[in-house]
Amino acid sequence: MLPFYHLVTDNPPTHIRNLYKHKTLTEFKDDLDYLLTHFKPITLKELLEYHQSKKPIPNNSFHLTFDDGLSEFYHIIAPILIEKKIPATIFLNNHFIDNKDLFYRYKASILSDKLYTDTVLGFNFKNKNDIDELAKTFNIGWDDYLAKHQPYLTTEQINELINQGFTIGAHSLNHPLYEELSLDEQIYQTIASIEDIKNRFQLNYAVFSFPFTDFNVGKKFFSSIKNHVDLTFGSAGIKDDEITFNLQRLPMENKVDGAVNIKMAYSYYLLKKLIFKNTIKR
Ligand SMILES: [Zn+2]
Repeated sequence: MLPFYHLVTDNPPTHIRNLYKHKTLTEFKDDLDYLLTHFKPITLKELLEYHQSKKPIPNNSFHLTFDDGLSEFYHIIAPILIEKKIPATIFLNNHFIDNKDLFYRYKASILSDKLYTDTVLGFNFKNKNDIDELAKTFNIGWDDYLAKHQPYLTTEQINELINQGFTIGAHSLNHPLYEELSLDEQIYQTIASIEDIKNRFQLNYAVFSFPFTDFNVGKKFFSSIKNHVDLTFGSAGIKDDEITFNLQRLPMENKVDGAVNIKMAYSYYLLKKLIFKNTIKR
């Protein structure tokens, strides 16, 4: 069981609040209590060892993951996880570490607030420059926003989290939707992201989570990156994958509470398994 989150907060920031539902502190703690009652937390290292030795992972194990490298992980999430002794992995976008740049979807969320329109939320990776043009027209400076709000983890915070036992992975350079990229661009975004994270933080393991989704990412991609990575992670729910080193995770930021979300995903998985349709084919 691989639940995944982005943000836990009681005050969702402008760059996220128009995009997806976040978890409040109470909701998050309730999720963790449910998980701890029914499952046993394992570290990424244990998950990697099980995978490399091809030994079956003990039933009812879970490993928590958090995408996008948000600063709330340092300020809010890490203290809760340390208190409850739950290990976790954080997936980072290289271009955003140290608040050097902002994910184009976050820019859209900020613009939609300032311009009082949801239309900008429809912009995609290919027309992300239009978002910057629009911001310029309305005199909105991303550097000012980044400096004031510090949405992302800094190198110093990441090193501190590593020293506290958290593990980290790559999440692409700047969060494109892979389905919209050419195969070469997909491979470049992945390998460059993984190698940079490994070098910057001197890691002896390499993991990667797909930005948005691995939907429509094909066999050629996986065979091209397999020597650069130990495990990759998708976000299709509780599912098996034809690519044995690509593990699917369960998105937790739904409208239903964590316990119901997990129960629903499990029943769906078991039902699909009965009719042999629970494996993603590439
Ligand atoms: Zn992401």
